[in-house]
Amino acid sequence: TSSARLATCLFCKIIKGEIPSFKLIETEKSFSFLDINPLAPGHSLVIPKWHGEKLHDVPDEYLEDSLIVAKKIAVAAGFENYNILQNNGRIAHQIVPHVHFHVIPKPEESDENG
Ligand code: 5GP
Ligand code: ZN
Repeated sequence: TSSARLATCLFCKIIKGEIPSFKLIETEKSFSFLDINPLAPGHSLVIPKWHGEKLHDVPDEYLEDSLIVAKKIAVAAGFENYNILQNNGRIAHQIVPHVHFHVIPKPEESDENG
């Protein structure tokens, strides 16, 4: 596609297959894969196939597609309780500077608070 990609970006490399990942759903505008350091089993990430660091850097149609992919993952996996999380900026806990939506299932029998 004509999407902007950055040669030095970790997640752009995952989109291109230059770094391996456990792929879930791929569309024309989005790519999703399991998080390498899951907060819960089944924790995945959905990324637009457009290199933007923060939410406001990415065209609407890519964000729309990525959120729909997040929904498809939740439906396909049968998640009842889950969080969609998207961090912007280092102070807001963003580590990888390519927009990503976390899809984090919340197990029913959890000892954690919340
Ligand atoms: P952030 O804190 O930026 O919102 O989240 C970045 C997420 O990317 C973290 O949950 C981290 O485990 C995940 N991550 C970082 N590097 C890789 C990688 O190379 N492969 C995969 N699958 N996940 C990664
Ligand atoms: Zn990127």
